[in-house]
Amino acid sequence: MLEKQLNEVEERISDACRRSGRDRSEVTLIAVSKTKPVSMLQEVYDLGIRTFGENKVQEMCDKYEAMPQDIKWHMIGHLQRNKAKYLIGKTTLIHSVDSVRLAEAIEKEAAKKNCVVDILMEVNVAQEESKFGLSTEEVLPMVEEIAEFPHIHICGLMTIAPYVENPEENREIFAGLRKLSVDITNKNIDNVNVSILSMGMTNDYEVAIEEGATMVRVGTGIFGVRDYKNV
Ligand SMILES: *Cc1c(COP(=O)(O)O)cnc(C)c1O
Repeated sequence: MLEKQLNEVEERISDACRRSGRDRSEVTLIAVSKTKPVSMLQEVYDLGIRTFGENKVQEMCDKYEAMPQDIKWHMIGHLQRNKAKYLIGKTTLIHSVDSVRLAEAIEKEAAKKNCVVDILMEVNVAQEESKFGLSTEEVLPMVEEIAEFPHIHICGLMTIAPYVENPEENREIFAGLRKLSVDITNKNIDNVNVSILSMGMTNDYEVAIEEGATMVRVGTGIFGVRDYKNV
């Protein structure tokens, strides 16, 4: 049942890569499986998907236990400091770091477990009041501060664009995140490499790829609409 939807997403990613002169291998598809049952995750796993995104710590940990070990789990949702400890060792990448205090909690836990945690800085490029994430101006000083943490590695930037009828309206936001990553790269900060750009969701991932996304987070396009009643 999910094969057709997954194939369509794959096709549209390939087309967007072709249009923008990029190689398909430059873009990682994250299957955003939040609220969906393990049986559906298993179905797309069997179709070859190994990268999943979840936005709640408990739900990710439950699915981590239930699913095969070769999956890469991405934490894409807002993270509370006191929950960071449950994720370390299970998640491949935390997309949503937007404060030094959260980074400190991750650092402390990673030090305990003697590992280095890969993170993205979440940027609220669209300046929406209701959302998490840093303003564009806050990013560089915070990157410089977190770069000093020995058990954290900053790998890139993430943004959530607003829902819009016409995805073209978000092009500027994606271009803005890319520009910010270029500005940070030009600073040559030790221990920082912002080559990952996590941007684009079901409604706008093709535009995001055209603007340089290296990770797209697609939920509805693969799994269908979410029902929050049972969560
Ligand atoms: C839910 C979610 C997505 C996926 O959204 P869709 O519109 O269903 O593709 C992507 N990114 C984040 C941060 C999310 O919370």
